[in-house]
Amino acid sequence: MQAFNDTADVTHFIHGERVRGSGVRTQAIFNPATGERPRKLLLGEIADVGAAVASAKAAFPKWSNTPPIRRARVMLRFLELMNRHRDELAAIITAEHGKVFSDAQGEVARGIDVIEFACGIPQLLKGDYTEQVSTGMDNWTMRQALGVVAGITPFNFPCMVPCWMFPVAIAAGNAFILKPSERDPSASLLMARLMKEANLPDGIFNVVQGDKVAVDALLAHPDVKAVSFVGSTPIANYIYETGAKNGKRVQALGGAKNHMVVMPDADIDQAVEALVGAGYGSAGERCMAISVAVLVGDVADKIIPKLAERARNLVVKNGMEPDAEMGPIVTQQALERIEGYIAIGIDEGAKLVVDGRGLKVDGFEGGFFTGGTLFDNVTPEMRIYKEEIFGPVLACVRVKDFSEAVDLINAHEFGNGVACYTRDGHIAREFGRRIEVGMVGINVPIPVPMAWHGFGGWKRSLFGDTHAYGEEGVRFYTKQKSIMQRWPESTEKGAEFAMPTAK
Ligand code: NAD
Repeated sequence: MQAFNDTADVTHFIHGERVRGSGVRTQAIFNPATGERPRKLLLGEIADVGAAVASAKAAFPKWSNTPPIRRARVMLRFLELMNRHRDELAAIITAEHGKVFSDAQGEVARGIDVIEFACGIPQLLKGDYTEQVSTGMDNWTMRQALGVVAGITPFNFPCMVPCWMFPVAIAAGNAFILKPSERDPSASLLMARLMKEANLPDGIFNVVQGDKVAVDALLAHPDVKAVSFVGSTPIANYIYETGAKNGKRVQALGGAKNHMVVMPDADIDQAVEALVGAGYGSAGERCMAISVAVLVGDVADKIIPKLAERARNLVVKNGMEPDAEMGPIVTQQALERIEGYIAIGIDEGAKLVVDGRGLKVDGFEGGFFTGGTLFDNVTPEMRIYKEEIFGPVLACVRVKDFSEAVDLINAHEFGNGVACYTRDGHIAREFGRRIEVGMVGINVPIPVPMAWHGFGGWKRSLFGDTHAYGEEGVRFYTKQKSIMQRWPESTEKGAEFAMPTAK
């Protein structure tokens, strides 16, 4: 596969065109494998957000009046185009994020799943109808688009996470403004171009690049009716509070610390592979990465030597190399944060079994690389247990039994994903029922729900009432209206002063 080598400035996409906008502030975009800065990003200002919202607002009435099946046909063309450009998108992601190419391909595939789901919008928007709720009177509900809605997305899934939002919002009849991560913004521009090629009217999908300035402008703008956010917990909390204060509907998905319980009856080799893939895949920069292994009973002594062996021998290199298992970290700053946490873990008294720090990759000496790190004897009061490290650091906690494992996980502030490896059906069932986490895997390490099920965590991993995509996504991007109707021939009397009841 051809590596992505574009050096043009990364612009906004407003009203069907790439535009430079105010173009005053810029930020470098790195290739994390080389440390080079091949491109510059134009950071949006309040005026750029204003231009995007104005374009979206003007385009909204016609688009929301377009029959759902015709909106679905635009999505269907977009789906075809995304499938045609899958590898191009994946190469862009590897060049700016660093994840290995096969993982980037997987991310694009999971984004495409949601586009496919959005193609079914006519069925998803169907309302309820009750004939004869009172004599001569019928009642039905329907769902209508909100207007201009916005999405603010993180660096770790520059294609998939935007696809959790805009295909559903747009198919439902809204106009959408995407504010992608400033670290890897190029995938958003390719998707905007493909939406245009799919015959989406100008103004219905806009991209404003930028940082806090653009985010705050979206949160303050009175014409933005709803905001979807995915990112870290402190920012999710801020977005939720500020958006709500400004009268907007908000769903804000936050950070995570995902546990995987290994029961004594589990297949140990399977559990090792699951922990290595889910802990070190994408360099641990996934909100569904496993960062804590909860080892029950005598599991730890059996599993840790095998985990250590795998962690030590991870193939870490430029993500475009076909045999790479793990690529670089997204930025130098993130690399320093991760390696800083490893030092904290040592100070806190955890046992460092494998130290990934200081890894150098031949020919890529300027890249932001670290190896896989493994800690044993981690305890719940340690910062490396409590805080999200968001890197390839796996912490092993030893517990005596299943109940202790469940209590440990339920006491954690995050509740995004969780997994349990066991061969006991009763344990699996109890785990699913008792665990206070939004997405649960039984012998599945990364249980990211399919497009029609919806994605969302519990506790401080999600602020808001609805999950992303699936039917919850459709509900988030539409408001329900109830209509009661009768016709003059069936109206028997004048004013009624008591609460109407069925007659
Ligand atoms: P981040 O919170 O730093 O950034 C997310 C978005 O918020 C970006 O678009 C960024 O420009 C914007 N932003 C950053 N600081 C801001 C501020 N002070 N004010 C307003 N906007 C601001 O997150 P990130 O580092 O890009 O992504 C990693 C985080 O995202 C991790 O915590 C990870 O767990 C989380 N994440 C969660 C999910 C989920 O579904 N729960 C999915 C993916 C990532």
